[in-house]
Amino acid sequence: MRQLNSGLIEVICGPMFSGKTEELIRRLRRAKIAKKRVLVFKPRIDNRFDEVQIVSHSSQKISSIPVEDVETMEHCLRQLDSPVDFIGIDEVQFFNEALILFVENLANRGMRVILSGLDQDSNGKPFGPMPNLLAVADIVTKQYAVCMMCGAAASKSYRLKSQQNSAQVFVGASESYEARCRPCYHKGVS
Ligand code: ADP
Ligand code: MG
Ligand code: ZN
Repeated sequence: MRQLNSGLIEVICGPMFSGKTEELIRRLRRAKIAKKRVLVFKPRIDNRFDEVQIVSHSSQKISSIPVEDVETMEHCLRQLDSPVDFIGIDEVQFFNEALILFVENLANRGMRVILSGLDQDSNGKPFGPMPNLLAVADIVTKQYAVCMMCGAAASKSYRLKSQQNSAQVFVGASESYEARCRPCYHKGVS
């Protein structure tokens, strides 16, 4: 069994609208209730709802530090007067592969690192550092949304036709994407 006080990498993955951010916020709030020192980051690219807060589609919020890249997170941690117990990072698919060593080092030093991100892009391909991150994680939670076509469990983020362009990194919300199960994703039509 895992020891609750030792370093750990937890990853919450799934498609858009699957409650990844809600679950990240829930776990970080519990850490705060336990009087743990918590630090939260998000990539600066994700400013759909708020510059400094992480906000779920259901309007749950937690304060965070927006950062450009992994080096900026390292820099922030070096500036701290006292070490933190928990580190949360949302939308981790937008970071590069340097994320892997970074979070492994933190966990090896005893920190609980909780990360959330899209496992697949809207083309159904593994997204950024997620495959390697999932491989080194201690605990993986795969979440599902509700398919907007049929109501089944949705594992895919479908980019609506009216919004399609070729870039993998296209930050948008409900007006651009919807959650779909595999059959409805392949049916296309929006
Ligand atoms: P994620 O971070 O995975 O994109 P959020 O945690 O921001 O998801 O939001 C999850 C919330 O989104 C749900 O609790 C629900 O209120 C809302 N929601 C909107 N569309 C859907 C959907 N198709 N399936 C599930 N939840 C949805
Ligand atoms: Mg989210
Ligand atoms: Zn479906």
